[in-house]
Order: sequence, then structure tokens, then C-alpha cells
Amino acid sequence: MRIPKSFKLFATPIEVVFDNNRMQDMECYGLAEYSFSKITLADAHELKPLSEGKIMDTFYHEKVHMILDTMGERDLSKNEKFVDTFAKLLRQSDETAEYETSIKYTIE
Ligand SMILES: [Zn+2]
Repeated sequence: MRIPKSFKLFATPIEVVFDNNRMQDMECYGLAEYSFSKITLADAHELKPLSEGKIMDTFYHEKVHMILDTMGERDLSKNEKFVDTFAKLLRQSDETAEYETSIKYTIE
């Protein structure tokens, strides 16, 4: 599982932190706070570890909220169905990406 500790949207670094107590208090698995440029995630719930798939889904979900908020697309960001489907497709496109490994550049 590869969850970054930060990434950038335009010039703003977005911090990614884990805070199980806070997420449990808020009864959620993740939170995107645009005004703090911060995504908070849980990796356990009531002392039970969350699956990698659940954590990744939540990370992508919160990342899509952050991207839409950065774009000023507040209405789209409030549309949880849109955010969830976009996040699943974004995750799938990242995880199924294949790259050409045999390209050779020649300088003449
Ligand atoms: Zn959401």
C-alpha cells in the first residue's frame, strides 16, 4: 500500500496524516480539510485494523474531495456519489497502469 505523506495541488502541499482517535470521534474513516490543506485517515476502527483496500478507497475519496475543492467545484465535491465513483475510477486507473519499459532513446 502506498499512501503518500504529502502531494501538491497547484502550489499547495497537501499533508496526509493518520489519526484513528479523531476519525473515531468523528465517526468516519477519512476527512479532507481544504482550509488546512490536510487529509486525515484512519487505519483502524475500534482497535480493528482496516483493510488496505478500505484505506486506499478512503484516501482516493478524500483526494478527489481535495482536488474538487481546489478547483472551486464545491457542488461536485458535495456530491458523494460523484466523488466516490470518480475516486474508484482514479484508483483503478493508477493501479492498472502499464508502462512501456523497452523504449530506447537514441541521440544522433
Ligand atoms: Zn466524501
